[in-house]
Amino acid sequence: MNAPKPAAARAPLMSLVDAMHDLLNRVQALSATETVATFDADRRVLAQDLTSALQVPPNDNSSMDGYALRVADVTEAGTVLRVSQRIAAGHAGHALEPGTCARIFTGAPMPAGADAVVMQEDTVEVGGDIHAVHIQAVPEVGQWVRRAGEDVTRGAVVLARGERLSPASLGLAASLGLSHLSVLARPRVALFSTGDELVMPGDVPPEAMKPGAIYNSNRFFLRALLQRMGCEVSDLGIVPDRREATLAALKTAADHHDLILTSGGVSVGEEDHIKPSVQALGSLDLWQIGMKPGKPFAYGTVRRDTPGAACHFIGLPGNPVSSFVTFLLLVRPFLLKLQGVPASRLQALPPATSLPAHFTVARADKRREFLRVRRNAAGGLDLFPNQSSGVLTSAVWGDGLVDNPAGTTIAQGDLVSYISFADLLA
Ligand code: AMP
Ligand code: MG
Repeated sequence: MNAPKPAAARAPLMSLVDAMHDLLNRVQALSATETVATFDADRRVLAQDLTSALQVPPNDNSSMDGYALRVADVTEAGTVLRVSQRIAAGHAGHALEPGTCARIFTGAPMPAGADAVVMQEDTVEVGGDIHAVHIQAVPEVGQWVRRAGEDVTRGAVVLARGERLSPASLGLAASLGLSHLSVLARPRVALFSTGDELVMPGDVPPEAMKPGAIYNSNRFFLRALLQRMGCEVSDLGIVPDRREATLAALKTAADHHDLILTSGGVSVGEEDHIKPSVQALGSLDLWQIGMKPGKPFAYGTVRRDTPGAACHFIGLPGNPVSSFVTFLLLVRPFLLKLQGVPASRLQALPPATSLPAHFTVARADKRREFLRVRRNAAGGLDLFPNQSSGVLTSAVWGDGLVDNPAGTTIAQGDLVSYISFADLLA
């Protein structure tokens, strides 16, 4: 007969939302900043507001290849204007002689006095010695002219402190003349996997694997996920399931990292050494979340040598899908806040889309469940048939998660909340 479970194991689970709030409340942005080349700043977080020292574009300029003119000079369609100058992009013209037009190209500055551009398709060249064109339609003031400062006005805060840079924002920063940007430091993260069963690919060929041994898969996606999040990763490898080894690994990592991230060993079995080790070296504050996959999740701190200082600790479940999903839903916002993204911009979960289920879930789960699904060509969602937290294929086959509330069955055609992996990996 099984012994009764200890009371702690039956304690009510914490809701994902409460866990998220709790987790985010425990983390403050790193204070260190560094200057990086704008080229290298994708996904980094701005340490200061970017204020524009100039207006963009710097002058009124043409948005078409055509002719710049004064609208007042074209009273009717078919008016002929002499072409008095030629202005290409990157070259300044001079004031437009009254009663004439300027040949102009896209991006070239408008000559003083001109107030519109007629695109070349709406003109016909007049043959003969004089260079002149028929203007075939009466233009409107401002037509095909990009106004100085229409993108950015001088003195405007173009990107705010705490903004996470995207490819487009790098371009915008460059348009202000900024070759370097001040950004928050990268979080230094120590990563280790626990488990005596783990073997590194390359160390033992598949045919020589001992019974019970498995390859360490978590290490590969966790490292890649951390790198995508802009972290500096110290990969400390595999820590055996022994108390002393676990204590030693945690202790060494705490001094030089902002976060220790582990996978495995956070359940309640006696081979799970993470929990008591973190308790011995600091504190363990969060435990067992009401979500599936991903129930065993731990947050804590590990003391550093400097009195009063501590390193964040997050223990992810060992099951690969649980580890993957809890990283996306919990560790990701944690890392964003650590990197200086303000809490106001950190949504609890990325925006969900309502899509029809092209599958059923007949048995409701007691926990809030994140099902691995894939959009299909008919505009609905297909479910990966095996939702076991050990089946990593589901996360590769799937392109997102259905966020299914606790105790909810799903019938064919029901609208469900879909969160795309692309949003969680950006
Ligand atoms: P644990 O949380 O340590 O009890 O592990 C739960 C399950 O996840 C077990 O089946 C482990 O073998 C498996 N597991 C733990 N760590 C890893 C890893 N790094 N890669 C693949 N599977 C793992
Ligand atoms: Mg284990």
